[in-house]
Amino acid sequence: MLDEQLTARGIRSARVLAALGRVDRAYFVPDTLRPDAYADRALPIACEQTISQPYIVALMTEALELSGSERVLEIGTGSGYQAAVLAELAAWVVTVERHAELSREAARRLYSLGYQNVSLIVGDGTLGWPELAPYDRIVITAAGPEVPPALWEQLAEGGILVAPLGPPESQDLQQIRKIGGQPLVCSLGGCRFVPLLSAAGASDEPA
Ligand code: SAH
Repeated sequence: MLDEQLTARGIRSARVLAALGRVDRAYFVPDTLRPDAYADRALPIACEQTISQPYIVALMTEALELSGSERVLEIGTGSGYQAAVLAELAAWVVTVERHAELSREAARRLYSLGYQNVSLIVGDGTLGWPELAPYDRIVITAAGPEVPPALWEQLAEGGILVAPLGPPESQDLQQIRKIGGQPLVCSLGGCRFVPLLSAAGASDEPA
């Protein structure tokens, strides 16, 4: 998986590759999909959601440029896979999920794997988690038309936010730096994520 799917496609960071090597994706997929755990695609999890493709997890993580000291906010805990990779590379991870069932399962996995630097929160991620703001890094693992304003506010100056932005059918993965309060955007390419929903459940409301 590391060589064929990640290195071959341009993932260069040794720290990111090592972290992807340490976190076993098989542990985060449903039992029935274990044979497909290292497949080069997103896989279904409970609540009609998905665990992202390994390459996309690597690409997003690399774009966060983590050195180890950062506090990271993840929106969309899902299976907890991306959170585990982040926990390997950052000081603290706060991850918000709207489905309590997914959050509970992810918590069970992360704690049984020994991660002690992850806080799991059930709530509307479009509001972020102001209690622990500002965050050095923010990663949104669900698609929306724009960065929710609350998340931009909770990003520290000099921080980096990575998010799939665009319509439901396909999005542009963007790395956005906050420089002097202004966004500096770098496009990482096309991708497709499940929608970022507001608490009310409407996907087409401005987040
Ligand atoms: N990062 C996950 C994949 C996430 S899929 C992993 O590694 O497995 C996207 C997730 O975002 C889904 O679990 C979905 O329920 C969640 N989500 C969608 N809208 C949300 C919102 N407004 N707040 C919190 N979570 C949300």
